[in-house]
Amino acid sequence: MSTILLILKHKENSRLLSEWLGKSYQILLPISLESGDDTFWEEPFDLCIIDGYFLHLYWERLQVRRKSEQPVFLPILLVTSRPNVTLETRNLWQFVDKLVITPITKRVLQTDVEVLLRSRRLSLQLKLNQSGEEFDNNQQSKALALLQLEADLRKAIEEGNQFQVYYQPIVSLEHQTIAGFEALVRWNHPKQGLIAPDQFIPVAEETGLILSIDLWVLQEACRQMRIWQLSLPHAARLKISVNFSSKQFSLVNLQQKLAKILIHTDLDSESLKLELTESKLLDIAQSTMTTLLDVKSLGIELVLDDFGTGYSSFSYLHNVPIDALKIDRSFIWKIGVDENSNKIVQSIIRLSHKLGMYAIAEGVETVEQLAQLKKWGCEYGQGYLFAKPLNSAAAWELIASKPIWS
Ligand code: C2E
Ligand code: MG
Ligand code: MG
Repeated sequence: MSTILLILKHKENSRLLSEWLGKSYQILLPISLESGDDTFWEEPFDLCIIDGYFLHLYWERLQVRRKSEQPVFLPILLVTSRPNVTLETRNLWQFVDKLVITPITKRVLQTDVEVLLRSRRLSLQLKLNQSGEEFDNNQQSKALALLQLEADLRKAIEEGNQFQVYYQPIVSLEHQTIAGFEALVRWNHPKQGLIAPDQFIPVAEETGLILSIDLWVLQEACRQMRIWQLSLPHAARLKISVNFSSKQFSLVNLQQKLAKILIHTDLDSESLKLELTESKLLDIAQSTMTTLLDVKSLGIELVLDDFGTGYSSFSYLHNVPIDALKIDRSFIWKIGVDENSNKIVQSIIRLSHKLGMYAIAEGVETVEQLAQLKKWGCEYGQGYLFAKPLNSAAAWELIASKPIWS
């Protein structure tokens, strides 16, 4: 748990800030600043929130402390009613990392604290990664680029118009027709253009921003699928698969949230599948299991994505209420090339059937792979052989053309 040192002039402000920061952080409060008590400087802390009133008294101590922690970043947040003139002339920004003008709001405080502490964690992580060597320029710019990405991501979520959903068809291998689509998020960055999920989903996962992104994608994909179902008779039974971070399953009110989205978009729950990643599901808590069952009770299907890449302990498969296994594309690619991959794919398909589930192969790129998958009884396939992820207009054209892959 991160420790925050609070050096504020008014007791009431200290009380309010401690309350706002809640139980997520440990708060270090000097007993009496006026009496000259400075023993608190001996204690370890991860962030210092300091009142402008005390800054010139303590800035030297803070700088010494910062230097001693290098290359790990020790952030300082200044709370002030107006920037202090004398310090401004000494270049305030050499001493503090963030300035908030009073009266502060709870939201601003929490956001700033979270961003600053994340920078600290990141610098600590980079230091550990290079086993104690000095931070080099390359690593510093990598850390900065990550922080910039996080800031841009927050902005994108607030503005709400930078994300786009692409759709990749999932094909029934028995009928060779479209059975549904997987919704895949894209980020249309104002400066960098279209960014693939692999480049921002890990940051979104780490910061918890994934919760908002997933729900936005879900809402948009359900809305889109309902439009397609209503527009063409042969599209009425199409299903939509949406990737869902395992973080979602620790939310207490997930079932209500999903039910609300289904009602709002008028989509039948049987048209929706949620894809979860295997590795994250392994450390499943009992409360998560209850949420999975709640979600299933709505009529939504659950698919285990990237199957085979986690630390597959098959015993847990009995316990989780999963409907299908999606075989990771790293195995599909090697069908016909590597005898072991052939065996693995065949075994996963058999395993899914034994457990009363069905199998989906992702990353199908060649007709040879398709032929083998059909022979082994795999129910569904997805991959560039059929189509790449498409924007909604192109996906619509594909549905309308009633493709049959033979
Ligand atoms: P995933 O769920 O396993 O999605 C399949 C990925 O494989 C997609 O990459 C898709 O474009 C790619 N793919 C499909 N067929 C082929 C093929 O034949 N060849 C090759 N080389 N690639 C193929 P994409 O769109 O870059 O997504 C990457 C991952 O990002 C997804 O993997 C998923 O884990 C995550 N993701 C995407 N959208 C969301 C979202 O809305 N929420 C969450 N939580 N994760 C998402
Ligand atoms: Mg997926
Ligand atoms: Mg996958």
